[in-house]
Amino acid sequence: MKSILLRFGELYLKGNNRYIFENKLIENIKFSLKSFTYKFEKTFGRYIISNYSQSEEFEIIKKLKNVFGLHSLSIAEEVDSIEEDIVKEVLKINVANKSFKVFVKRADKNFNKSSMVFASELGEKLLKKNSSSKVDLYNPQVEIHIDIRMNGKSYIFTNNIKCQGGLPLGTSGKGLLLLSGGIDSPVAGYLIGKRGMKIEAIHFHSYPYTSEQAKDKVIQLAKRLTSYLGEIKLHIVSFTKVQEEIHKNCLSEYMITIMRRIMMRIAEQIAEQNSLQAVITGESLGQVASQTIESMMVTGNVLKHIPILRPCIAMDKEDIIKVSNEIDTYDISILPYEDCCTVFLPKNPIIKPSLERCEKEEKKLNLEELVLDCLKNEEIIILN
Ligand code: ATP
Ligand code: MG
Repeated sequence: MKSILLRFGELYLKGNNRYIFENKLIENIKFSLKSFTYKFEKTFGRYIISNYSQSEEFEIIKKLKNVFGLHSLSIAEEVDSIEEDIVKEVLKINVANKSFKVFVKRADKNFNKSSMVFASELGEKLLKKNSSSKVDLYNPQVEIHIDIRMNGKSYIFTNNIKCQGGLPLGTSGKGLLLLSGGIDSPVAGYLIGKRGMKIEAIHFHSYPYTSEQAKDKVIQLAKRLTSYLGEIKLHIVSFTKVQEEIHKNCLSEYMITIMRRIMMRIAEQIAEQNSLQAVITGESLGQVASQTIESMMVTGNVLKHIPILRPCIAMDKEDIIKVSNEIDTYDISILPYEDCCTVFLPKNPIIKPSLERCEKEEKKLNLEELVLDCLKNEEIIILN
């Protein structure tokens, strides 16, 4: 019978908290497979999925590959741990004209042969059947694994499919992702999710300066992220009035810095209202004027109660693009609709803003009212 062996990595590190991580991981696996029928089994150090429809195997694997906390998986043939049955199954593997190596792992010590002895016996039998193949212990073309587990079953496989790794979603709290239509912030959302943090997202748009398509693009991006991050509550906030007011009243080179500070104030309030524990951005050190350490210091300064997490902070743009391609957000991110940050863009944005100057410029605005206005008119979309 075909089955899928699932392996998890870092959970081993978690000592007494391990059961919390495991329960979450199992919950997430089951959620991702909610539209399939199958049997789920837990043995020490492994999960096993079986009794599924063969025609759905591809889709099941695709879902499992996106579950954070899973390390790798193998599609295996499951047989009872009886020597003849295992031999029969191993001999079905095609090693003609190839080099191979047999690996036996015996978790069940009731099985009567040691791993080493059984592996070499299996190797000999395979060679006898396939005169064109040979054993290569160092660089085999085919790795044949026999995993003899405690449940009286053995699993035979030649493949190892890499999964996401990371920690189970929901084991590291919940944060608010500032999601623009760009390349970086969806990557930031994915990376922080991979460390176990659930997210909600917030997007600022400047209709009618920015188009409906610009907003739609962000909805599509959030939708793509759901295949890793589960359900996402997307808060959409109109930023038009704020930008008009800054443009009208404040020093133009401080425009972007002040915009960012107001975004952060709004984000912190929404985070508080929704019990979110951090704000997440796609910033990368030195990438643009608003991402120098001085800029980040004055932007971060407005947050009073929660941290800003910047998963892309030390990444080169090309590495961010690589991840963006892997998680399938790149093609949407490069659609040419403008972001609100490009509206009223000053010619010379300040590279090293001073905090005092920001505060002085902000005195020219009715900050509290502007923020409240944004909060009152937020639109919420649930994506899953
Ligand atoms: P991105 O590719 O994520 O848009 P970027 O390189 O364009 O990033 P900036 O425009 O400086 O950089 O934005 C920095 C970060 O601020 C973004 O990664 C995002 O987290 C946040 N941000 C920018 N614009 C918006 C917006 N309109 N709505 C929500 N968050 C935004
Ligand atoms: Mg951007």
